Amino acid sequence: MQENRNIVSAYQKKYSYEKLNRDLVLLCGAYPEQIHYEIIGRSEDDRKIYDVILGNPEAQSCVLVVAAIHGREYMTSLLCMKQIEYYASHPRKMEGCRRITDILEEIAIHYIPMANPDGVAISQFGTGQVCNQGLRRNLENIHEGKTTRWKANARGVDLNRNFPYHFYVSGNAGEEGYSGAEAVSERESKALFQRIAFLEEMRGLQGAVHYHAMGNEIFGECRKDAEAYEKTRLMSVLAQKITGYSAAEPDFEEDCGEDAHSNNGNLREQMLYGNKIPGITVEIGKYPCPGPILEFPRIWRKNRELVIQEAGLLLECR
Ligand SMILES: [Zn+2]
Repeated sequence: MQENRNIVSAYQKKYSYEKLNRDLVLLCGAYPEQIHYEIIGRSEDDRKIYDVILGNPEAQSCVLVVAAIHGREYMTSLLCMKQIEYYASHPRKMEGCRRITDILEEIAIHYIPMANPDGVAISQFGTGQVCNQGLRRNLENIHEGKTTRWKANARGVDLNRNFPYHFYVSGNAGEEGYSGAEAVSERESKALFQRIAFLEEMRGLQGAVHYHAMGNEIFGECRKDAEAYEKTRLMSVLAQKITGYSAAEPDFEEDCGEDAHSNNGNLREQMLYGNKIPGITVEIGKYPCPGPILEFPRIWRKNRELVIQEAGLLLECR
């Protein structure tokens, strides 16, 4: 049966850009009706950035899921690819009172499973992965030693601080949390920003799930006067119920729960207040990134139904 194919293996310590490419081809071959993809841009070091579309690509509504905007959080890419395979291979499974296939006919899920492929490669295998010589030299100048905990892109910019909403320059290249010199200065953030505008205009973008690691918590706070407030609240309540993760303290740094200074140029807030699109950030895992693969089965159990159920919720309250 289709359901037992398991193209995306859950036992990969380092879910790499190359594995993602390979799995994507296999998934599209196995589920040509349900899975499509588009290349929405290229990274600074020329890796492809994909939008993997699950369900009816012409649907009037869609949900956006963004993973691995931070390099070391590549377990979120594995999680998204597993979800894509699981939903495609269980079309008749009931989620609430609808079958997965019926939900996906009306609301497509657009996955950007690896928003920062250069950052993933640097975290997994070091600066030697950067093919562009100028970029690599610069990187070696601004960063010494191990890169296992690398978050930024190949130019040292934290992409989750590079969006226009509440943008200000923070940090320096090579430091964690560097925003870049100006908003949307990076090829990766440009690709995302343009794709969001396209989905909003042409595909009825209803909401977003931002996957990060770590903390086992959900960021679902939203200013009460914002248009996206009520749906964001509902999405957050549902996500807490499904995952068992707790609601994060408001006003806290959204990524990785380490720094407590205010968000600047953050993608979720860009979408919430700039684009008026509801959305939550889900922080998977208990261990510092990159987390141990041994934790993945638990993360999978908690997140398996999350995105499809959020899509069902957004469909109901369109
Ligand atoms: Zn993060």
